[in-house]
Amino acid sequence: MTDYPYLFRPLDLGHVTLSNRVLMGSMHTGLEELGDFDRVAAYYARRAEGGVALMVTGGMAPNREGGVLPGAAGLFTDKDMANHTRVTAAVHDAGGRIAMQILHAGRYAYSPECVAPSAVKSPISPFAPRELDEEGIEKQVADIVEAARRAQLAGYDGVEVMGSEGYFLNQFLVTHTNRRTDRWGGSYENRMRLPVEVVRRVRQAVGPEFIVIYRLSMIDLVPDGSTWDEVVRLGQAIENAGASILNTGIGWHEARIPTIATSVPRAAFTWVTKKLMGEVAIPVITSNRINSPEVAERVLAEGCADMVSMARPFLADPDFVKKAKAGVARTIAPCIACNQACLDHTFEMKIATCLVNPQAAHETELVYEKTEEPRRIAVAGAGPAGLSAAIVAAGRGHAVTLFDRAGEIGGQLNMAKRIPGKEEFHGLVDWFATMLAETGVTLRLNTEADVEALAGFDEVVVATGVAPRDPGIEIAGGQVVSYIDILTGRVTAGRRVAIIGAGGIGFDVAEFLTHEGESPTENLEAWLEEWGVADPGEHRSGLAPEGPRPSPSPREVSLFQRKSERPGKRLGKTTGWIHRASLQMKGVKMVGGVSYDRIDATGLHLTRQDGTREVVPCDTVVLCAGQTSERSLADALEASGITSHVIGGADVAAELDAKRAIDQGARLAASL
Ligand code: NAP
Ligand code: SF4
Repeated sequence: MTDYPYLFRPLDLGHVTLSNRVLMGSMHTGLEELGDFDRVAAYYARRAEGGVALMVTGGMAPNREGGVLPGAAGLFTDKDMANHTRVTAAVHDAGGRIAMQILHAGRYAYSPECVAPSAVKSPISPFAPRELDEEGIEKQVADIVEAARRAQLAGYDGVEVMGSEGYFLNQFLVTHTNRRTDRWGGSYENRMRLPVEVVRRVRQAVGPEFIVIYRLSMIDLVPDGSTWDEVVRLGQAIENAGASILNTGIGWHEARIPTIATSVPRAAFTWVTKKLMGEVAIPVITSNRINSPEVAERVLAEGCADMVSMARPFLADPDFVKKAKAGVARTIAPCIACNQACLDHTFEMKIATCLVNPQAAHETELVYEKTEEPRRIAVAGAGPAGLSAAIVAAGRGHAVTLFDRAGEIGGQLNMAKRIPGKEEFHGLVDWFATMLAETGVTLRLNTEADVEALAGFDEVVVATGVAPRDPGIEIAGGQVVSYIDILTGRVTAGRRVAIIGAGGIGFDVAEFLTHEGESPTENLEAWLEEWGVADPGEHRSGLAPEGPRPSPSPREVSLFQRKSERPGKRLGKTTGWIHRASLQMKGVKMVGGVSYDRIDATGLHLTRQDGTREVVPCDTVVLCAGQTSERSLADALEASGITSHVIGGADVAAELDAKRAIDQGARLAASL
């Protein structure tokens, strides 16, 4: 008997039966563009082994103009065919099923060659698209159909036609981007002609025994998007055109409402998919911020969908399904929806991986082999770097003892989990605790790891982390505290707060100080109101007419930095805008280009870039001026002649984050 009866019900698609209700959603890793298809095959095969019913590849361009950027992976040449065939063979050998996503980016293509229904530039691309003529439209349809036919020849079990997120097909659907007056524009019947025609001709080309998923934008979250009636009409037309399954898309990429970030409540948009249930006869998949078997089961049990799609959770743990089935869901590495190692990497043109699981998309390169020579390893510091090193080393068979002077594991993660919108960090710390127990790490909390305690071990890993940097500003009075004082609750800030330092932690502290009571991330209704999301059945595109309605901040907060660039510029590529927008909604002043003169009882004295001096009246000044390495243990060990491995913030404090710490810990442990 499974804990998740809805999740493990088979799904009959006619010519094929899926073994459970979990789809691994499309996720671009960048591996295809590397051209190393051994890695691509290993990545998908590893996930197939984990028991997911069906996977969808990252988006494959049907032609040059449709690629998300020049050189984007596709399926047009004979070499492409050979490469894709290797992927499908590896997946099938591992007992899995895989569909290829066909992604035509339209005006989102980062290329001067981009094409679209109308020459309307998107706000997230520097290139204005070329408006397609009749012949040009026919070419796009033919290329998409050809990509589907080739996918079938390459051994895929199906295709997903990407019709959401504001990409090419979506651009035809709404007047926001389709200004045409011919048979492809104007009335809704005309605007939906292209997606429906694509699905009809794809089905015609591939025959009945091939899965055709259509990803449909159910709530556009942009001005002049679809109405709910139009969504239903499209879903029904796509079904009639021959699709096997409808998948959910939430929000266009240019939407100014977060849809997958960690501050988005879990399963925040499954109610939208639920509205389509009963309107079509084919199975419907829901998605966005579903990251545990419990949430997935609830979504299915509540009738929100026939199947759930999860993408990032399969980077975090390829064995998600297998572990849920075996009743050990507690050991599933949780996706915390941070985007730091997956989507942010993609936007930085780096190979995607996962903050929680550095092996993701690096399966052939970062291998945790069982050791043949178990050794006694001490790890000092139970922050992300130390935890990662400990569980990987112990998992490989070493005898690991983990020390921390604190009474709990987690280090700086314990600070992150207190920030409204970062509640997922609780799950990450809990998972580390589970894995310490599972791998048999001896945990010594409330214990200072000194030279004497570490002397008898074969290997010593120093992961003692960081200490807050003292920015050295003259303090002549007033309440001046560190971010640790605030986030641990040791100090309650006054009503007017100045924050010195606008890095990740300065932003986090501002978020913490401008919220009161329950976090909107834990309260869907409050979150939808905060960001201005409405029922698309009542308001076109799901945009509330009154816009975002955040709860007022209990404090007046200002955030300062010395650099003259826009504060928050260096935050995550895909999440920085959310942090900035969120603080703007709370009235936080974000000021760059200042120098600090002194702090006294009247407030923070500073000088602006133009030389004007100013006193910022405030009750509390919070120092978030970065970190310095905590190396006293490493130095003491060195002085005693004990060799150690120094990792995480103790190694390099600058721009330290959990991603680098966990990766470094895992890589060291893999090599011991
Ligand atoms: P940080 O990102 O390096 O920011 C430090 C801030 O302090 C900067 O704004 C810097 O700006 C200022 N600063 C540095 N030296 C100073 C000095 N001597 N006097 C006054 N101001 C000074 O460090 P952090 O905010 O402590 O965050 C640590 C790491 O945690 C970051 O690298 C970040 O990646 C990670 N983190 C990430 C997130 C996230 O959202 N992804 C959230 C929290 C933490 P100026 O030099 O211009 O004044
Ligand atoms: Fe999830 Fe973050 Fe890993 Fe991406 S990097 S898969 S968002 S935990």
